[in-house]
Amino acid sequence: MNHSTPERPADIVARLRATFRTGRTKPVQWRTGQLRRLRALLTENGADLAAALHADLGKSGTEAHRTEIDFTVREIDHTLEHLAGWLRPEPAPVPAYLGADATAWTQYDPLGVVLVIAPWNYPAQLLLAPLVGALASGNAVVAKPSELAPVTSATLARLIPAYLDTDAVAVVEGGVPETTALLAERFDHIFYTGNATVGRIVMRAAAEHLTPVTLELGGKSPAFVDRGTDLAVVADRLARGKFLNAGQTCVAPDYVLTDPQTAADLETALAHAVQGLFGTDPAASPEYGRIVNERHFDRLRALLGSGRVAVGGDSDRSTRYIAPTVLADVAPEAPVMQEEIFGPILPILTVTGLDEAIDFINDRDKPLALYVFSGSEETRERIAAETSSGGLGHGLPLAHLTVSDLPFGGVGESGMGSYHGRYSIETFSHRKAVLDKPLG
Ligand code: NAD
Repeated sequence: MNHSTPERPADIVARLRATFRTGRTKPVQWRTGQLRRLRALLTENGADLAAALHADLGKSGTEAHRTEIDFTVREIDHTLEHLAGWLRPEPAPVPAYLGADATAWTQYDPLGVVLVIAPWNYPAQLLLAPLVGALASGNAVVAKPSELAPVTSATLARLIPAYLDTDAVAVVEGGVPETTALLAERFDHIFYTGNATVGRIVMRAAAEHLTPVTLELGGKSPAFVDRGTDLAVVADRLARGKFLNAGQTCVAPDYVLTDPQTAADLETALAHAVQGLFGTDPAASPEYGRIVNERHFDRLRALLGSGRVAVGGDSDRSTRYIAPTVLADVAPEAPVMQEEIFGPILPILTVTGLDEAIDFINDRDKPLALYVFSGSEETRERIAAETSSGGLGHGLPLAHLTVSDLPFGGVGESGMGSYHGRYSIETFSHRKAVLDKPLG
């Protein structure tokens, strides 16, 4: 197929739908074959991808591999290992009035042509991990990388057609106009990762065609730090989770809730932790990333005045650097508490105790993640039972999303639906009910 003139969205979808109709994407051999090709794309082009991620986000090679390239390879390996088992039809008991010879089961059917729209913050992982699930489920896929990570977008747009079946997988680059044009087409599923404002646009467009959606959104993920915990460990784990990718992580701890005494001690512990991770001058650390663009830099810099700067606080617009920053004495009404921070600023808010912390969380939108640092079983159980969040992490931020056997997704304002591992098969397939009553 000649791709020298850009294909119109309608033609792309029609072409992919024609491939799907031939049945080519359905056999498990095609699916695993595509997954192996995707694996080769990642392992053979790790250096190119890491360079692209560095150009877009200042990601270090270690971070690019750990959070994007190797992450996706692991998701592929897990899927290759278990796919046949996941796809096995599942028998269902049949009521007696249908007779002893009747049987029933469910089987997973591919949906057809699905659209995956990715954001800029983990621009490779968040395009490719959904693609793994969509291909494993036997679909044709249109993949739309984020225009705000342009080098990664261009790299993926070059590599994906070189490795995958171009009759079944298409990459469409671009921003709002291109995505709007795509959304006018009828897809069988739309998988969107990004902010909730655009999530609403996607869902409205999908409603026109009754297309189901998965919305992987964000929000303010709280971290509750209990009295009497080992603050050196807590601070190290909070800092790693918060300042990875310069805070531009959907499941990063957004803010800390703790009692006033712990807050004071935590400030000191966080200062040590940041120094341990990035040295005395994080701007010089190769491990520390940069803000994606000037618009986000200006937005974040304006938030630095939301409290007393306890750690960091400096910034440089010419390199889009914002230091790993901890803000203390932050009021719930402060600007930094009115939106998802999505940058390297960690506000500490004080509460009188667990009851107030739970109320604080429940007074706000349901977060994508909630983190609890507590040695008390009762505290852990109460938070688990009395709050709602996409995921819950005890003692370690971010790590739940690396467990392939856990569903990853939000609830309420943080999204709908989930994926990873077998949950991707649920998302990208239809679970068909089958009844068989012999004619004899
Ligand atoms: P973004 O600006 O890259 O937008 C995401 C995608 O939406 C892009 O592909 C973009 O082209 C498209 N888009 C933008 N405007 C559009 C419009 N008007 N119509 C149609 N499509 C449009 O990324 P972002 O939204 O800034 O990403 C950050 C947000 O994503 C944060 O809220 C973060 O928490 C969330 N996020 C969630 C997850 C998750 O897995 N739940 C992961 C990463 C980021």
